[in-house]
Amino acid sequence: MSGEQELGITESKEHATGEWYAEVVQKAGLADYAPMGGFIVTRPRGYAIWEHIQDHLDGWFKDTGVDNAYFPLLIPESYLEKEKDVVEGFDPEVAWVTHGGHDELEERLAVRPTSESIIAPFMAQWTRSHRDLPMRLNQWCSVVRWEATETKPFFRTKEFLWQEGHTAHAEEDGAWEETMTRLDQYARLYEDVMAMPPLKGRKPEHDKFPGAHTTTTIETLMPDGKSVQAATSHYLGTSFAEAFDITYADEDEEDNVAHTTSWGISWRAMGALIMTHSDDQGLVLPPAVAPTQVVVVPIWQEDTKDDVIEYAADLAAELEESGVRVDLDDREHRNPGFKYNEHELNGVPLRVEVGPHEVDDEEATLVHRPDSDQETVDREGIAETTQDHLDTVHAKLYANAEETLDGEIREAESREEILGTIGQHGGYVKAGWCGDEACEEPIKDAIAAEIVMVPLDRDEEPIHDECAICGEPSEETAYFAKSY
Ligand SMILES: [Zn+2]
Repeated sequence: MSGEQELGITESKEHATGEWYAEVVQKAGLADYAPMGGFIVTRPRGYAIWEHIQDHLDGWFKDTGVDNAYFPLLIPESYLEKEKDVVEGFDPEVAWVTHGGHDELEERLAVRPTSESIIAPFMAQWTRSHRDLPMRLNQWCSVVRWEATETKPFFRTKEFLWQEGHTAHAEEDGAWEETMTRLDQYARLYEDVMAMPPLKGRKPEHDKFPGAHTTTTIETLMPDGKSVQAATSHYLGTSFAEAFDITYADEDEEDNVAHTTSWGISWRAMGALIMTHSDDQGLVLPPAVAPTQVVVVPIWQEDTKDDVIEYAADLAAELEESGVRVDLDDREHRNPGFKYNEHELNGVPLRVEVGPHEVDDEEATLVHRPDSDQETVDREGIAETTQDHLDTVHAKLYANAEETLDGEIREAESREEILGTIGQHGGYVKAGWCGDEACEEPIKDAIAAEIVMVPLDRDEEPIHDECAICGEPSEETAYFAKSY
């Protein structure tokens, strides 16, 4: 029995969110800590979730003109230096390769912290005429940033998996449209695949990607009231193209500078997903990313064993044939209760129970992971019924997350009110803002909350006429929140 207890989650999501999260990640078999601080080992169940996220996005990217490519892990120091013309580099966070075997390298090589400095020079080479544009490249890879912070799987790791898209366009319009296309695809990923309501916005000027004209962002709310920057899409203007000489000859053979974009999502999305839906029983996953969507558990006595197992196996086979990712759990050395706990811990969205009654009545009992709701349904048409129930599980998860979010967007009209509201409830607080970074400082200093976004539309009227901090006329609505 002690073995069963250790299997389960012991921390509380509500009272010890950080510890609970770490426990879910490990006990649900998603990841382990690597021997080097800041690195994790992604286990098959964790990696499978990432693959489903990848599959969806990658398909949408390809449908909208993006080609995948792959650039080297190591970047010459002189290439990184070139980026400094545009941005303050990632210097203190860069890991360097200084030796090959026993020989010191003539030029240090950076382990990529991001790849524009190696991708942009090649885009410059490949872009000759307006006919080469738009050029849309994406790579799925890992990057390394040597930040000395506490390891939190998928949220804070020195190496993380991501995709980075880099595009070049002849005109501003095309580049701006590209920026929004990718932002919308990230929003769609959160809504339709991960069952999380996204907030779409723009980073304030002082917090945009260095060198970018505009940084757009997807923010999602975590159960502890903090916001996660869940994906970003940047319109870079011509600054990077100028630095890296991405130019093209137009129809009149005149040389022009291209407009570029970049956009990315990392496995932090997985962290946000796990934290949003999971509970004190363990992992909860929306069906679209669940490695196993349905588990069929036969429940038998000695005299009914053969019939029940045969019936369950036949049912599982029919589901598999219909395209559902299904497991038949007919292990003999585990009782049904143990199996239920284990599949709940592992986040299987739907359980199908089959016992002698179901066999006799040609039925099956479906149990939803998020709320244990169950329904006994006809065996006939089980594939279609199962799909309906998987859709319902997704809808329930989305509705829960949306309800939480709706209650967590508040308004404030003064510094004290912003501090008090975030201090007491967490979540987002909308306030009028003059646009001056200095007006973020007192909030940052007092409670470590910041302006996580402003509305996408620059022309949107601010929520209040006056800046909540300084009283000057407000330029836009700021969303204050604590953030990951
Ligand atoms: Zn102000």
